[in-house]
Amino acid sequence: MYSFNVRIVQSGILFGDLFKRLKDRENARTRVLGPSTSDQRNRQNTMSELYAGVDLGGTSIKCALAGADGEIVCQRSIPTESHAGPNSVLMRIAELVNEMQAEVGQSISAVGMGVPGLVDVERGVTRFLPNLTTHWENVPAGDILSAAIGCPVKLLNDVRTATLGELAFGRGREVDTMVFIAIGTGIGGGVVIDGKLRLGALGAAGELGHQTIDPNGPLCGCGNHGCLETLASGTALAAEGIRLMLMGLAPTLHDLVDGDPARVTAELMSQAALSDPPVLDAIYGAADDIGTGVANVMVTLHPELVILGGGVANIGDVLFDRVRAQVIRRVRMISPDTVRIEPSDLGSRAGVLGAIALASRGLGTG
Ligand SMILES: [Zn+2]
Repeated sequence: MYSFNVRIVQSGILFGDLFKRLKDRENARTRVLGPSTSDQRNRQNTMSELYAGVDLGGTSIKCALAGADGEIVCQRSIPTESHAGPNSVLMRIAELVNEMQAEVGQSISAVGMGVPGLVDVERGVTRFLPNLTTHWENVPAGDILSAAIGCPVKLLNDVRTATLGELAFGRGREVDTMVFIAIGTGIGGGVVIDGKLRLGALGAAGELGHQTIDPNGPLCGCGNHGCLETLASGTALAAEGIRLMLMGLAPTLHDLVDGDPARVTAELMSQAALSDPPVLDAIYGAADDIGTGVANVMVTLHPELVILGGGVANIGDVLFDRVRAQVIRRVRMISPDTVRIEPSDLGSRAGVLGAIALASRGLGTG
């Protein structure tokens, strides 16, 4: 069972305060970009270091080399092939990073890697990666990679890593308190308070997909019933799309996937939604549940920004407008206008960029 750190934060940020803080930050940034010699020297020093960011997924491994400023100079992707076991996967990652170093002609200073599951951040040991063969229990992945690549390696949960990416290089740069919710195959999250990613006692803070939305809802992989993930993940939405299609209620979706249930995705459902009203209703239902989850987070943390990412967020305005409407209905204690609910501007790059931030800055914002 996870143990969550609950923090009580000041609510009721006034518009004027918020605007002033944003303005101050903008001015500070302008100063940093000014032409002073020491600033230029610092900038050159920062840019001379190169880091590797690895996003380890169930089906593919993405890797990018970049400076501390997040400018990617080289990126590659290889299949995970997790059936071969942890050692084989880690050796292929090391090989990939070493090839990429040779390609750009520069050694990297550190590696950051996002992994899909629980990880001991301090020791760089994977605890439980549910989507990988053998589940990688107690694999010292950090040490194995470090020995094979020849530099320090830091590990972090993948969605927390993407949150770090949003904080360092995405919309998160503009705020001190934010929440990232990744709505894909499952639903994960990350919480940033006072400019720092918060991991909680076991690194599990931010498991926002496992908040209860419907106490009598479907059984979740975590053992609870009615988690947000069971109702509004890409998997849940696609399952409803398949049901509608098989019942003859979604002819456009049927045409889009040639009647093949395995090809139904949230994105294709959004294409069919205009002509298949039951599909639109399914998207609205998921959006309402996401809105309820976001409302819960808002009254808990009062973040300045909630970023929604992952494949389901690609549905776009149809989803976001409905989420915002649900939040307005449910959040009465604070003004919903003080919280922006926005799509990620990094998209699928958030994972590798977060890993670059992990490698170059650690868990703070630097
Ligand atoms: Zn759950």
